[in-house]
Amino acid sequence: MYAGPVQDLIDELARLPGVGPKSAQRIAFHLLKLAPVDALRLAHAITEVKERISFCHRCWNVSEAEECEICTDTRRDTTSICVVEEPRDIVAVEKTREFRGRYHVLQGAISPIEGIGPEQLKVRELLARLEPEGVVEVILCTNPNIEGEATAMYLARLLRPLGIKVTRIASGLPVGGDLEYADEITLGRALEGRREVEA
Ligand SMILES: [Zn+2]
Repeated sequence: MYAGPVQDLIDELARLPGVGPKSAQRIAFHLLKLAPVDALRLAHAITEVKERISFCHRCWNVSEAEECEICTDTRRDTTSICVVEEPRDIVAVEKTREFRGRYHVLQGAISPIEGIGPEQLKVRELLARLEPEGVVEVILCTNPNIEGEATAMYLARLLRPLGIKVTRIASGLPVGGDLEYADEITLGRALEGRREVEA
């Protein structure tokens, strides 16, 4: 439709989550109008994040080092792990100040429609942590929507036979929503009121 580089940019933008073809076009033309210094700042931010940031080898949070700041913090309780879907959920839980353990980021949720099963998530990596870290409780803090619930149930069935206390954050969070949209107080209460999952 457009000259090569413009179309390339539109195509790349359209690949981003939540950006449809129309928005991609609008953003592309916005970038075209920007002063070079402003557009290059965005390009630089993308390059920087790809060069410098990777995932923590232990919990799969974003990290500049091999292990993230939470995993290397010796003041944190290593016996409880809060399982979340994405690194941004860690930020949401941290804001509540209700949790002093470590995290495990699944990097997604089970979704048959999108063809995402447990093998595509960091489930094996979670299992491998339990014994060496002396984990006694796993808190399932996946989103309160269909995928999040399915993931929590799957993990509960997997973990309970291992003799680990498995808890799920309490209901009261907006159903169908994302953890990151819950306010600190609501999420804090949900964590505090977590209940053991019955198999
Ligand atoms: Zn970590």
